[in-house]
Amino acid sequence: MQQHDTHTLRQDDSRHHLHPFTDTKALGSGSRIITGADGIYIHDSEGNRILDGMAGLWCVNLGYGRRELVEAAAAQMTELPYYNNFFKTAHPPAIKLAKKLTELAPGHINHVFFTGSGSESNDTVVRMVRRYWQLKGQPQKTVIIGRRNGYHGSTLAGASLGGMAPMHEQGGPMLPDVAHIAQPYWFGEGREMSPQEFGLLAAQSLEQKIKELGVERVAAFIAEPVQGAGGVIIPPDSYWPEIQRICDHYGILLVADEVICGFGRLGQWFGSQHFNIKPDLMPIAKGLSSGYLPIGGVLVGDRVAEVLIEQGGEFYHGFTYSGHPACAAVALRNLELMEEEGILERVRELTGPYFAKQWATLADHPLVGEVRSLGLLGALELVADKTTLARFEPGIGAQCRDNCFATGIVMRSVGETMVVSPPLVITEAQIDELVRLARQSLDLTARQLGLMD
Ligand SMILES: *Cc1c(COP(=O)(O)O)cnc(C)c1O
Repeated sequence: MQQHDTHTLRQDDSRHHLHPFTDTKALGSGSRIITGADGIYIHDSEGNRILDGMAGLWCVNLGYGRRELVEAAAAQMTELPYYNNFFKTAHPPAIKLAKKLTELAPGHINHVFFTGSGSESNDTVVRMVRRYWQLKGQPQKTVIIGRRNGYHGSTLAGASLGGMAPMHEQGGPMLPDVAHIAQPYWFGEGREMSPQEFGLLAAQSLEQKIKELGVERVAAFIAEPVQGAGGVIIPPDSYWPEIQRICDHYGILLVADEVICGFGRLGQWFGSQHFNIKPDLMPIAKGLSSGYLPIGGVLVGDRVAEVLIEQGGEFYHGFTYSGHPACAAVALRNLELMEEEGILERVRELTGPYFAKQWATLADHPLVGEVRSLGLLGALELVADKTTLARFEPGIGAQCRDNCFATGIVMRSVGETMVVSPPLVITEAQIDELVRLARQSLDLTARQLGLMD
């Protein structure tokens, strides 16, 4: 194994590396340097082995150290490391991946546009949605409605569609003609009602917004089936059917951002299938390649594809790396492995239900106000008082996250919500370990707060 000089690496890192989503000045003693990984564990430069409860950033679904994916990349890079798909050219990996993805997607989706990331996919969504309505003779339909606390990436379009207030504050002015409605976050915003009543109300805020803006201005609604970065917010069952009804009634396009929920996270190929909705567009990325190489795309339903293809002429849009051959080859192999190993069934029937049961045991912890999970997504709400569910002062989530690292598990904190999204290859024994480490991290936090001996 390669030896790493942690001190020098940290020094160079803080001197020269501007990290994404990081307060560089507050790096303090420096970054944790991750040097290797295998299965569901990562290794740092100081020799610690840490259970990766987040699958990297929600993406390493098949786990680390998969030779098959490395070999797929190496073989493709030897054969054809790069060529593009512009100007009437194509290559086998992009074609094969397009065919495979549209076979896996619901029946009304038969086309895919490739990108390099989730953010680029959502930029593509904006361009496609606007182009669609222009071709339909309604060019004034330009407004896309997203949700507060939704996440659709970090480019200008992604950040604008998303509803992350701190991002909007730093990046303004955002893209024009984007509006936001309520999120279906029952624990945070709806506890005076039943979850079902609240879910319906949150969905109906879409109808209100359409009426307020005028349907002649509204092009599309975009949302994640389950909000990931917002804190693993699982909508009440009443939510999605009502959203679908509203989109159908007003004829606006439904965009399901599948960047996290896609590729098995909820035990189906797509989160939309779990919630039984019929999106016109599905941005994808992350788990598509298990994060081994960067690739994303937009799955395009027939309603939009037919208009773009039949009436659109050339679409002046694309990326140098749209459908990059090595990335596409790895993604294709990743999807094949998911099938060969029965990952969907495993999550749906075995590890998802097992995780739900074990994760729920954390509900008795003095710091935990709510436990929720779906498939292999889980969240814990940290509270100062279990009876009133009163929150702590901000900062306890981040403190708990740091304790997780010290305990040997990666969990992410979103405000006072702790979230996990482990690799889909996690075993039942490893789920036990994950839950045990999560409890130890909560205990450590509670002791620091003087709430436990
Ligand atoms: C991560 C994420 C994105 C952005 O993807 P990048 O590859 O980071 O650009 C978009 N949408 C959702 C739902 C995501 O979780």
